[in-house]
Amino acid sequence: MAIAAYVLTTEDHPTADQVWNAVKAEFPMVSRATVYNTLQTFREHGLVQQLVLAEGSVVFDPKVEPHHHFVDDETGAILDIPWNQLRVGKVDELEGVEVRDYMVVVRGRRKAAKRR
Ligand SMILES: [Zn+2]
Repeated sequence: MAIAAYVLTTEDHPTADQVWNAVKAEFPMVSRATVYNTLQTFREHGLVQQLVLAEGSVVFDPKVEPHHHFVDDETGAILDIPWNQLRVGKVDELEGVEVRDYMVVVRGRRKAAKRR
């Protein structure tokens, strides 16, 4: 199915509308509702996770194993940060809560690529 082919293999973190647009390019008949419902089904089955990294913007992430995110201030681009690259201390020591999950969202801008 085209929706699965796109959203489960993308390296990006698309919004539902971005998924819809990508699928529509190949299958113009597919409806927005179909895409939305399919994404929710994928989410319920743990195939994608749904992230709110910016206010009012829900994106889907096919990488469901723990990892962190970098959000580019200028472009809004979302990049994955490997779990091991950051260390968050004392999560286990938080009082009065039972932690199920956590994620660090790093914001900033990308440095220009280094030239040799
Ligand atoms: Zn991600």
